[in-house]
Amino acid sequence: MRTFDRGIYKTSKEALKAVFGYDSFRPGQESVINAVLEGRDILAVMPTGAGKSLCYQVPAMLLSGITLVISPLISLMQDQVNALNEAGVDAAFINSSLSEKELNDTFKNAYKGHYKIIYVAPERLMSEGFISFAKSIEISMITVDEAHCISQWGQDFRPSYMDIAEFINILGKRPIISAFTATATQNVREDIICSLGLNDPYFLVTGFDRENLFFQVDKPQNKERFILDYIERHRGESGIIYCATRKNVDSLYTLLRKQNISVARYHAGMSNEERKQMQDDFVFDYTSIVIATNAFGMGIDKSNVRFVIHYNMPSSMENYYQEAGRAGRDGLNSECILLFSPQDIIINRFLLEHKDFSDIDPIDAMTIRDRDIKRLQIMEGYCYTTECLRNYILKYFGEDPKKPCDDCGNCLRQFETLDMTDEAKKIINCIYESRERYGKNIIMDTVLGAKTARLAEIGASKYKSYGVLESSNKNLLRRLIEELLLEGYILTGEYQVLKLGDISRLKNTDTKVMVKITDEDKVTNRKLKPKK
Ligand code: ADP
Ligand code: ZN
Repeated sequence: MRTFDRGIYKTSKEALKAVFGYDSFRPGQESVINAVLEGRDILAVMPTGAGKSLCYQVPAMLLSGITLVISPLISLMQDQVNALNEAGVDAAFINSSLSEKELNDTFKNAYKGHYKIIYVAPERLMSEGFISFAKSIEISMITVDEAHCISQWGQDFRPSYMDIAEFINILGKRPIISAFTATATQNVREDIICSLGLNDPYFLVTGFDRENLFFQVDKPQNKERFILDYIERHRGESGIIYCATRKNVDSLYTLLRKQNISVARYHAGMSNEERKQMQDDFVFDYTSIVIATNAFGMGIDKSNVRFVIHYNMPSSMENYYQEAGRAGRDGLNSECILLFSPQDIIINRFLLEHKDFSDIDPIDAMTIRDRDIKRLQIMEGYCYTTECLRNYILKYFGEDPKKPCDDCGNCLRQFETLDMTDEAKKIINCIYESRERYGKNIIMDTVLGAKTARLAEIGASKYKSYGVLESSNKNLLRRLIEELLLEGYILTGEYQVLKLGDISRLKNTDTKVMVKITDEDKVTNRKLKPKK
């Protein structure tokens, strides 16, 4: 084995080229590397495939001592070490797959200064052998890969990750700590900073943007019609249509089959063989379209998916972005379309309210439920927003986009902005007057002065708000309510009941409620006839 020649690379660019053969850094990589070289701790959030490894491998080449990489998966460790060895870097791993002799050889080589990078499984850290080894070598940096495993809120919590902080304390001299993850939620980030004891870390979120994907939200009157038209316009293209329920999958599947469209379906109610067959047909292009529940897609790597349509709104942005992101893996332009109807919110709420928490501590269950409701609301916001859709996504994942993308459904749509402050106050009065007991439809019908059986039943005509907006129309009022929800003036409670939120701002005469509308919104789509 070759002894590592310290300091042969003067700059990170030089190491990038010489060791990895790349000419330039990807977004974010260089800033992380520079921060490490200045001695700072790091928390970097980058999605899978964005290039996290180089962010610690390159500085490892330039730091004087060894970089320890804590990584949860044995197979991943081995792949990384093989790749480094092939690139001419002497790296090693320490995990349960090594024999006693191999382990001792690794320690010996490390003492002789052979390695710049050693991967280690978290379970090993607190073993006596490893601690005495770690104390006798120079560790410049500890890198925590898949750092979200330290958070109890994530699905991947690893108790052994809790040992990392203690391990660092045992070392006499505190090395640089760099943490990497693809999980973007705020809770998890805070957990990582706190549990690892990161010291004013350089924080980076990057790489979530997928430039070749076009995002759009549509609210078609008839979703099936929309899908048939869409497929007609995209004949021969490969696509995935996600539905919320097996029932939706089956009925859409039957509909498309009747039109002689080459289509497969996939959900957990089918037999294993059937699913395998459907999946293979799709992956090998025997069928161009697959209709599926979210059970589909795990581990599928099909590069030429040209569109992902969501027939129903998913329950979180995390799920949406993961599923939509299966489009355009080959880098070619692809479309991600979400078909939204208010019914989707009701389905999702229902599923949340009936989620089984019986084997979870009640306090945890409450926290998880609150988190799920928050996620759902953010997903709803995506369907309501008139801002750039791409930016809405990127901001959610913590990026800070500087300008609209000019290339999404909202950026390309012509909006007109209406001042609806007056209408907003009337809607809020109506919610207040009816004591926060009703949903969107009853509130709209009341201010429009509709004559429906339901309104008669609740005695809506006695309200002062009854008919105060009779010259408006439902589309406009629906847009207004969406805007009020987005801005937090009102909230949705259980059973989709509208509640008052932070309305104090509206008392300020400078506050305006501006609503973006399209030409379609100006058209009254439903006559407010009395029900017979
Ligand atoms: P992650 O760990 O974030 O999932 P990886 O570190 O495995 O991603 O990188 C994904 C791929 O991108 C790898 O094949 C890697 O070699 C490549 N890659 C990373 N950085 C660069 C770069 N600056 N230039 C070209 N390719 C890169
Ligand atoms: Zn945009």
